[in-house]
Amino acid sequence: MSAKPKGFDRWDLDSHISRAIAERGWEEPTEIQIEAIPHARKGRDVVGQARTGSGKTAAFGIPAIERCSVLGKIQAIILCPTRELAVQVSEEMGILQGEKGLKIETVYGGTDIEKQAKRLDDGADIVVGTPGRVIDMAKRGHLKMESIALFCLDEADRMLDMGFFPDVLWIFERTVNREQTLLFSATFPQEVLDAAEEFLNDPVHVMSEDLEVEVPEIEQFAIKIGRANKLWALGRIIGSSGSDSQILIFTNTKRMVELIVERLGKFRFKAVGLHGDMPQSKRERVLDSFRDGSESIVVATDVAARGLDVDGITHVVNYDLPDDSEVYVHRIGRTGRMGKKGEAWSFATGSEVTMVDKICSTWGLEIPFIEPPALPEGRERDFVPKRDDWDEVSDYFGMVRVSMKINNSETTKRELVDWIVKESRIPEIAIGEVTSDDEETIVEVHVEKVAYVIDVIKGREFQGRSLKPAIVNS
Ligand code: AMP
Repeated sequence: MSAKPKGFDRWDLDSHISRAIAERGWEEPTEIQIEAIPHARKGRDVVGQARTGSGKTAAFGIPAIERCSVLGKIQAIILCPTRELAVQVSEEMGILQGEKGLKIETVYGGTDIEKQAKRLDDGADIVVGTPGRVIDMAKRGHLKMESIALFCLDEADRMLDMGFFPDVLWIFERTVNREQTLLFSATFPQEVLDAAEEFLNDPVHVMSEDLEVEVPEIEQFAIKIGRANKLWALGRIIGSSGSDSQILIFTNTKRMVELIVERLGKFRFKAVGLHGDMPQSKRERVLDSFRDGSESIVVATDVAARGLDVDGITHVVNYDLPDDSEVYVHRIGRTGRMGKKGEAWSFATGSEVTMVDKICSTWGLEIPFIEPPALPEGRERDFVPKRDDWDEVSDYFGMVRVSMKINNSETTKRELVDWIVKESRIPEIAIGEVTSDDEETIVEVHVEKVAYVIDVIKGREFQGRSLKPAIVNS
């Protein structure tokens, strides 16, 4: 019995491609290639979930090169969100086609339009480009779309982020003789799913395995919290974590590493920092003491934590969310090693909640938003006191709504505003809209003045009565 062919030989690829791959030294196809290439070679529409680094370019590049011949007519078009990516994809495809001789042209904005037009006029077999310039070239008559059989979208989610979808649709609709569509994306927000629905015909869905396996099996939680109270929430996590816990806290800048270490120290939590500006020897010492348990709280940046190999970490805290969802997975992968139990906590300010959604959709995770852990039994006072967080309660214009115990028949808005302005000596512009009903009056006060205004009003009487000012949480 003959053994099943391994590596790229399993597919009996176009000989030019096989040779190019062998020369490059690629031995095995990556997961996304194994999943996508067989379907794409058969002419099926494919929607793939894959990120940069997964080998996705070859996953669509190999079938694209295979189905094109040297004709000088555009048979495949690949749209990318940025010129850098377009250049990269085009170069990769140039290498993959080996000696096949296809003309692969790159079309992107910001460069000499005449030269690009001339090259297209000379005949191209494959075009890789950004949507804006592709449309431009098509409108000027240099890029003929009738001959295009394969339409491919790379990084569809980023295209969406960058507002390219109307352009993509414009191009899609003009590839009237299209036979096959491939769509790749790292994440699948609803809009990409909708677009996929529109663009694809009975597609096969594939996913690169590495997206599925890298995420460790640990408990993950998120806390919606304003900047001012992150330390309070961190205090709760540390305080309830148990005496033999090892906690790794991530933040995005060196400065924040130092600040968090210093502030934790003020509240009697002993922590050490780890960041790229520290000499290597000092970093090693920090790691050693984390490993042997003499330090139990480390605050680090991503760069410093790269390659950090400590087995006993029980908690990872994202004090700040990373900008990149892949970094999230690297961070939380520090805990739960060797099958041990671990917990990952992420703080998200109001505007960062969508980042948590994005992480969930990219990696197929569920990260519930919950309250910080309760105080341990027998403890009444918080480890770090909670503060009024004005930024969290202010609106888009920076106004905070303050309710006062006085109704609409007891005073006029004018009288009340004049009194507040006079007593607290603030400019009138710091007061916004005033509304009142038969129970209370709500006055908008600018976030920069509100703490002070409330303080002043609390200590004085308006027409012989206390107004009991309180923030309205809306
Ligand atoms: P991509 O995700 O397409 O940006 O590819 C990431 C990197 O992996 C690129 O440098 C590719 O050249 C490389 N690569 C893609 N497929 C393979 C493979 N099967 N074996 C080794 N390297 C690969």
